Amino acid sequence: MTASSNYLIAGNWKMNGLKHSLGELDAMAKGVKAGSANGASADMIVCVPASLLTLAVERCANTPVEIGGQDCHANASGAHTGDISAEMIADTGAKWVITGHSERRTDHGESDSEVKAKSEAAQRAGIVPIICIGETGEEREQGRTLDVLEGQLEGSLTNDGDFVVAYEPVWAIGTGLVPTLDDIEAAHRFIREYLENRYPGSGSDVRILYGGSVKPGNAAEILGIDNVNGALVGGASLKADDFLGIWRAAPS
Ligand code: PEP
Repeated sequence: MTASSNYLIAGNWKMNGLKHSLGELDAMAKGVKAGSANGASADMIVCVPASLLTLAVERCANTPVEIGGQDCHANASGAHTGDISAEMIADTGAKWVITGHSERRTDHGESDSEVKAKSEAAQRAGIVPIICIGETGEEREQGRTLDVLEGQLEGSLTNDGDFVVAYEPVWAIGTGLVPTLDDIEAAHRFIREYLENRYPGSGSDVRILYGGSVKPGNAAEILGIDNVNGALVGGASLKADDFLGIWRAAPS
């Protein structure tokens, strides 16, 4: 399992973005280049819709920004109309893919074992899966958050290889609601302990991202929490100014 100690700020454009949106990517790349020259060290990636993968990779060539997909099929090729394989994503030059986002788990009924198979497919294709887990509001109210996280970690993570974990409470995604800093700290500590137990020697290096209504205004306090190694950002990743504001908030 390889890992970087840099903070990772990952954008998820979801089903948003047309060709003209690539101007935002140009501005992000320019901002990261300038910020890095001034000592900022976080990594930035943007996970774009499949329609923009090739163009986005081209636009970000020779810049510090890397591109990812938002989902992949577990198979390398075949009769799966409308799907995209990890090999196809890698073929565009993209280096990352989100797997198990709660919108995939809900809209497409993806199970933990499917998420694991997709994540293994990403590794097979040479790209890094960002594996998402998180409890629903109902599960949290029932006091089941850590049990749910443990089940998802057990079922969704690959047995080895490179990956990133994104903890995204489902009720915090796109709602403007954010757990307390103590609750984020407790969830990330739990995930870290799980990783260290399951992957002795490397579990302490896996980056754990927090996702759910991260904005420029709350990024610094969230990114300052122990075991928060970056953020997965939806809405605020669509505009360069907002996304760069989050990126700049990462500790150097
Ligand atoms: C997401 O889609 O992964 C996400 C965290 O969205 P938002 O930042 O809009 O809550």
